[in-house]
Amino acid sequence: MQLFDVYSLYPIEPVRGEGAYVFTEDGTRYLDCYGGHAVISIGHAHPHYVKLISEQVAKLGFYSNSVENPLQRELADKLGRLSGLDDYQLFLVSSGAEANENALKLASFETGRSRIIAFKGGFHGRTSAAVNATDNEAIKAPINKNYPVTFLEINDLGAVARELQKGDVAAVIIEGIQGIGGIHVPDADYLEALPDLCHENGALLILDEVQSGYGRSGKFFAFQHSKVRPDIITMAKGMGNGFPIGGVLIAPEIEAKSGMLGTTFGGSHLACAAGIAVLDVIEREGLLENAVEQGNYLMEAMRATGSFQEVRGLGLMIGLQMEEPIGELRKKLLFEESVFTGSAKDPNTIRLLPPLNFTQEQCDRVVEAFASVSALRTVK
Ligand code: PMP
Repeated sequence: MQLFDVYSLYPIEPVRGEGAYVFTEDGTRYLDCYGGHAVISIGHAHPHYVKLISEQVAKLGFYSNSVENPLQRELADKLGRLSGLDDYQLFLVSSGAEANENALKLASFETGRSRIIAFKGGFHGRTSAAVNATDNEAIKAPINKNYPVTFLEINDLGAVARELQKGDVAAVIIEGIQGIGGIHVPDADYLEALPDLCHENGALLILDEVQSGYGRSGKFFAFQHSKVRPDIITMAKGMGNGFPIGGVLIAPEIEAKSGMLGTTFGGSHLACAAGIAVLDVIEREGLLENAVEQGNYLMEAMRATGSFQEVRGLGLMIGLQMEEPIGELRKKLLFEESVFTGSAKDPNTIRLLPPLNFTQEQCDRVVEAFASVSALRTVK
């Protein structure tokens, strides 16, 4: 059977991972600055993660979601404590798209409306409602365009106000830090103005933290760098460190009734074990603090090279903006220096999304790798 050609692939086959490294069969070691697209939060094959998942699968990996599952309770309690959002309700799903699909559905249930405001460069997943709110026409089929969506520039408060005042908007959906668009951090003032503006006009605010959440920015959720209280928050990627788990956090003011949302796999025993292990490690190893420390160190070191038009981001969610497309440079980093980096929708931006337990030595290695593929030219 042929595999469906989902993405163009690099010809390397990692078979094993450890911390911030992946290894191919022949023993070549790659430094992972991409984390499988911000998924690897606590590093590959972390012993605590391996232990909890192995023990759980040997006991009970899955049973019907119509019985009590104490692991869901434990996960919700830990998440509430670490995020500081204990008063929100948690609905567990299996991916980022599924989280956003449910968030948009819930906003539509709550408001009785269907129009959405989203942002240029934004990405929310490939399922129907989520992909319609994504700024990429090439990945939408006619069936996906089933509600009106307006794309605005981030940080343009006047534009959001004008659209909301039309009185037909169900929700504004925005990424805590725009990821695929090329690492763009919304202004704190702007984010802080959104909840009131939404509520005055009968709309809800959805924060998509699928990529920027789970400590990546140095706060549990990236929006927590500002004083914002979203109505709905979505998460996935780093939540399971590779195990497919996502979640929707629902503010207590929202009337989410049982039966509005549902899923077979979401919140299985095994998924919860993975989710609990990730939270344990984030807490025990101080990974939020480490993301700030290493992120600042790496961004400073990259800025000091004078080679980038801009180095931007928060914590270990970093965008390196160059003057020209980065495709060849990424290949050189991978094949000559064994350093795996990420691309963005913006062809001139490299994304760095390493595991949150990245070390200073590994940061130095990344800078050195960029230097040795002679990427470090001085920007005029
Ligand atoms: N939201 C954001 C911000 C994302 O970056 C992504 C994935 N790149 C998604 C949603 C969709 O997540 P998934 O691929 O797990 O469906």
